[in-house]
Amino acid sequence: MNEPTALVTGASRGIGRAVALKLAEEGYGLWINYRSSHEKAGALKEEIEAAGGSCLLLPFDVADFSACKKALEPLLAAGTIPYALINNAGFAEDGIFALMNESAWQNVVDVHLKGFYNMTSLILPHMLRKRAGRIVNMASASGQTGVGGQVNYSAAKAGLIGATRSLAVEVAKRGVLVNAVAPGFIDTEMLSGLPVDRMTANVPLGRVGRPEEVAAVVAFLCSPGASYITGQVIAVNGGIFTG
Ligand code: NAP
Repeated sequence: MNEPTALVTGASRGIGRAVALKLAEEGYGLWINYRSSHEKAGALKEEIEAAGGSCLLLPFDVADFSACKKALEPLLAAGTIPYALINNAGFAEDGIFALMNESAWQNVVDVHLKGFYNMTSLILPHMLRKRAGRIVNMASASGQTGVGGQVNYSAAKAGLIGATRSLAVEVAKRGVLVNAVAPGFIDTEMLSGLPVDRMTANVPLGRVGRPEEVAAVVAFLCSPGASYITGQVIAVNGGIFTG
């Protein structure tokens, strides 16, 4: 009955799904956010519950503050405060900057940065009151190095890294640890249609990563073993040098 709760955004598929399964395996009750993949989220809930875990589905757009508030406030008011918040929801709208329209810029900045603000500003005050919590932000190698065709996405992910570092400093003495994970090329729908062989030619490990390989690091950052780690960006990228 006293299982800690983890809230994972964008968990209907891909990396978020793997993170949710890993945290469920580690004994967390899961709050699963996603936007519209109801069937996939339902299947994940069934999988978690079949293994003896608990799972609540929370479909809403993380970029929409009032939708976040409407979904989360009643749960928080009922007294359950997530110990772990994983800000993972995201997508890319790639294209060269000279031709990038305003919506491709805004959508990508909004899902990653406004999503971070919306979710974190609703949960963090409760974590601070409890003097306990872990926040893990899903950044990207693209936010650490330059990637042509991803000016919007790189800007958003670099912004998320800055937010991670500054928030970590603000809340460290109140028992809340804030870190980012920066994946390289991970085998999810995000890579579909991309020239993966060409992209992995410069990856020292010579392959794309699996969502489970990212999930293992997120779970570690939420574990007691990571109690002296905050404000860090942990790369999970097969050895790509990011400076
Ligand atoms: P994915 O397979 O495309 O899954 C994206 C997830 O985010 C889905 O659950 C989706 O929900 C959800 N989502 C998207 N927009 C949302 C919104 N506005 N509100 C709530 N949920 C939303 O992507 P992924 O590869 O797992 O990526 C997960 C995170 O890792 C992203 O932040 C991405 O930028 C980052 N990342 C990925 C890679 C990679 O190579 N795959 C590399 C570096 C970083 P629906 O299913 O309902 O649409």
